[in-house]
Amino acid sequence: MIKYNKVLVTGGSGFVGCRLQRLKPEWIYVSSKDCDLTDREACRRLFEHHKPDAVIHLAAKVGGIKESSNNQAEFYYKNTMINMNVVHEAYRAGVKRLLASLSTCCFPDVSETYPMLEEGILSGQPTETNFCYGHSKRVLYIQINAYRECYGVDYSTFCPSNLYGPENNFDLDKSHFVSSMIRKFSEAKDNDTIEFWGSGTPLRQQLYIDDLTKIIVLLLEKHHSNLPLIVAPNENISIKQMIDICLEVTSKNLNIKFNNKLDGQYRKDGSNKRLLDLIGDFEFTTFKEGLSETCRWYDEQE
Ligand code: NAP
Repeated sequence: MIKYNKVLVTGGSGFVGCRLQRLKPEWIYVSSKDCDLTDREACRRLFEHHKPDAVIHLAAKVGGIKESSNNQAEFYYKNTMINMNVVHEAYRAGVKRLLASLSTCCFPDVSETYPMLEEGILSGQPTETNFCYGHSKRVLYIQINAYRECYGVDYSTFCPSNLYGPENNFDLDKSHFVSSMIRKFSEAKDNDTIEFWGSGTPLRQQLYIDDLTKIIVLLLEKHHSNLPLIVAPNENISIKQMIDICLEVTSKNLNIKFNNKLDGQYRKDGSNKRLLDLIGDFEFTTFKEGLSETCRWYDEQE
């Protein structure tokens, strides 16, 4: 087993970072308040100060479909600058091991095969609504593999599918689908009608946050290749099925309406075969279990 004495986590105050901290409190977690990673000098000082021997790079400008599609330039600039600085300054400071989060958003809008495989990451354009976010992640993937190749460092990447769970952002403008669904359900009274974007038919792999954090710990130990390893659960379910499960979990009696606008990608499921070959059997939290847990957490916050 490889032992890292000092692990630094960027994006430590975010959704993934906070939940990772519960699992690995001994690691160092930094946010934009500790260091603005778009600032190269500040980023350099961060690595010189902590001198980590491994880095988990999670920091990113992340948003829901509306925010990301309306602010493409900001998403491209911030993410590219953050990634460029983190990878280069980590390398400059002598960090030998780095694990960075990409996203399945960097895969092509329409793939030749489903489920998508790691090899297809650059094979077509990312979906329009996440175009710049997706491309900034591709640049990170390219940079990391170039540094592996040219400088012999053990830097690697992984691609989580959609995430949900306790401590996610539940703000209606910024949240992803599952959080906004939970919020809408929580605010509705029996017999109300609630409206959802699109047709309800698109398929998504929803990954429970605490499954991802456990997998990140395993990947730090086991993932040492240039593959952008896909981290996705087995279930690939439609928006309509998720709403039905939410009706069951909350026992609410609501009327559901779809506005048939802005569906987004129809499907973007990735294969978890390589992941499971690497880490062995992993029991993913079912969507029903994860949703119950998240609803319980959300109710406790009110
Ligand atoms: P998040 O909750 O939005 O957190 C983003 C983190 O990045 C925060 O800690 C934030 O710090 C930090 N950050 C943003 N701009 C920064 C800057 N200029 N300098 C330093 N730090 C900065 O994001 P998340 O959901 O945890 O996502 C973590 C990683 O997973 C990202 O790389 C994302 O692309 C990837 N991912 C997420 C999802 C998802 O559904 N959430 C899905 C697939 C992949 P502050 O709190 O100080 O702003």
